[in-house]
Amino acid sequence: MPELPEVETVRQTLLQLVRNKTIERVSVHWGNIIKRPQDPNEFKRLLEGQTILDIERKGKFMIFNMNDLSLVSHLRMEGKFGVFDASEEKPKHTHVIFHFDDGTDLRYDDVRKFGTMHVFEKGEELKEKPLKQLGPDPFEDAFSLEYFHEKLQRTSRNIKSVLLDQAVVAGLGNIYVDEALFKARVHPERLANTLTKDEAERVRTASVDIINEAIRQGGSTIRSYINSQGQIGMFQQQLKVYGKENTGCPQCGTEITKLKVGGRGTHICPQCQS
Ligand SMILES: [Zn+2]
Repeated sequence: MPELPEVETVRQTLLQLVRNKTIERVSVHWGNIIKRPQDPNEFKRLLEGQTILDIERKGKFMIFNMNDLSLVSHLRMEGKFGVFDASEEKPKHTHVIFHFDDGTDLRYDDVRKFGTMHVFEKGEELKEKPLKQLGPDPFEDAFSLEYFHEKLQRTSRNIKSVLLDQAVVAGLGNIYVDEALFKARVHPERLANTLTKDEAERVRTASVDIINEAIRQGGSTIRSYINSQGQIGMFQQQLKVYGKENTGCPQCGTEITKLKVGGRGTHICPQCQS
């Protein structure tokens, strides 16, 4: 599944490819991807004539800002966007095509068909589902120590589950939470309300650092078509604990162990994290 750094890489790449392009027509080959409006024909009609002015991101959602509308998209398991010449053959898993007036297409491809698209009047997207229930993105000022520490004080769930809770912070997934907790030297099973303010700050800054580093690496490749799985593969070479069970901790040499925390496979150094 693409995580926040992969989505950010896709966002940056797509923006260069589709900024200021105007949608002439939309084709929908699998209507269940379209969640709002419910009628795919209405979706097509609304987007005709809209120009993509910018692409933003909140957590793992991309927000295409157009003249009057915002298109909110989540790639879920295997969704991919690509830009093609309109004459190129359409592969079997391409479900939505935005035909631009310059002879190119923005195509949405999704083998699993779990991805989603919602259209809103511009400015309304943050007030409604699915963005409404998201906490701040790790890069927003709102993800401050005061905010984060207060959230931790209010719950006796373990710290790993709190970091994975999209209502607390948007976009952190299993891989990056394990890496962030290792960097912060905090055990994933610690109850959130037992973390000191200093520990909360270590976890907060480690989360932002890990995500930043992954974006820096993923962001170095600019292609016309992004394979999200491939982007994940690039960062995996830099992982310190995730998927590294039975190898030595890079800090102390102790064997990395794998456990289940909140039902999720979790990787720790039992020596470094307490
Ligand atoms: Zn260690």
